[in-house]
Amino acid sequence: MDSAEDLNYPQILFQYNHGFFFSKTMFTACELGVFDLLLESEEPLSSDVIAGRLGTSTTGMERLLDTCVGLKLLRVELNSEGVFYRNTELSNLYLAKASPKSLYHNMMYYSKTVYLCWHYLTDAVREGKNQYERAFGISSKDLFGAVYRSEEEMIKFMYGLNEIWSICGRDVIAAFDLSPFTHIYDLGGCAGGLAQECISLYPNSTVTIYDLPKVAQVAKERFIPPEEHRIMFHEGDFFKDPVPEADLYILARILHDWPDDKCMHLLEKIHKVCKPGGGVLVVETLLNEDKSGPLDTQVYSLNMLVQAEGKEKTSTEYSNLLRAAGFKEVQVKKTGKLYDAILGKK
Ligand code: SAM
Repeated sequence: MDSAEDLNYPQILFQYNHGFFFSKTMFTACELGVFDLLLESEEPLSSDVIAGRLGTSTTGMERLLDTCVGLKLLRVELNSEGVFYRNTELSNLYLAKASPKSLYHNMMYYSKTVYLCWHYLTDAVREGKNQYERAFGISSKDLFGAVYRSEEEMIKFMYGLNEIWSICGRDVIAAFDLSPFTHIYDLGGCAGGLAQECISLYPNSTVTIYDLPKVAQVAKERFIPPEEHRIMFHEGDFFKDPVPEADLYILARILHDWPDDKCMHLLEKIHKVCKPGGGVLVVETLLNEDKSGPLDTQVYSLNMLVQAEGKEKTSTEYSNLLRAAGFKEVQVKKTGKLYDAILGKK
C-alpha cells in the first residue's frame, strides 16, 4: 500500500521525470571531456579553468559541474581561493577514457544512438517494432544493416558494447567451469571483449570470433592484438552460412536481438554441429519469472523493442528454447551483476 506521505508528495514520479536529465548530464560531461581533464590534472580545477580548457561557456560549465556534484560524479571543494572540482573515484574508474574500465564509449553510444531511438518509444509500442526509420531515416529490414549504417556507427557500436565485458565479463565466463571446452566459437563475438576474458580464465582454450565480415575485420584490426594467437576470426552470417564444429558456442547478447523463430533456427543449427558433450553458453540479462523485475532488464527489453527485433526473457524461456533445440542438461547461473549465464549441453 502507498503511504499517505508517498501520495502527498510524489517524489518517485519526479525522479522518473528527471531520469533523462541525469543521464544527459553525465553523457554531456563525458562528451566534453570533463572527467578526462580532471583525471589528467594533478589538482582540482575551477569552473573557469575547466571551461577555458574545454572551450565551453563558463555559465554552462558551472551548472554542468554542479549537477555532476549532485550526481556524485564530481566532488566540490571550497577554499579561500574559490570553488574547485575533482573527479570522484567512480568517474575516475568508469567515465574517464584512459581508465581500463572506462564506459565512455558505452555512454556515447547511449547518448548519440540509443537516446534518439527512445524518442520514438510511443511509436515503437504502438507498432511493435524498432524505430531506425524514424530516428535515422533508414530501413531496418536488415537489422544489422541499420545498426551498422555507416563504418563510424559500426565502430561506435563495437566500442560501446565491448566495454561492458571489462566489468561483467569475468563473472559470466566463470559462472560455469568451461575448462573442458577448449575449442570455442563466440558467435556474434563482435570486438572480442568476452573472447579475451575467456582465454585469460581458461589457459587451454582458443576462441574464434564468428561475426559479419566487416565486424570481424575491424575486430582483428583494432581490438585484438596481432600477437594474440588464441583468438581467431571467422567471417560469416550465422543464419545463412555454415557454423563450424566446436566444443562450445558462446551466444552473448545474441538471442535477445531476434524473434523466437530465428533464435530456434540458430540454436538448432548449433546443436547439429556441436560436438557430443559440447554445449552452448547463452549470456543474457534475465527477467524474473513473473517479469516483475529487475528494472534494468525490463528497460533493456523495451530497448530491444526500439532497437532490435527481440526481447529480454526469463531463465525458463531461454531454457525452453535450448531444450527445444535439442540441448539436454540446461543450467542457469545468476551472477548478481547485469548479465547471467545459461549452459546447455548436447
Ligand atoms: N556478443 C557481443 C557482445 O555481447 O558484446 C555482441 C552482441 S551484439 C548485440 C550482436 C552481434 O551479433 C554483433 O556483433 C553483430 O555484428 C553480430 N551479428 C548480427 N547478425 C549476425 C549474423 N547474421 N551473423 C553473424 N553475426 C551477426
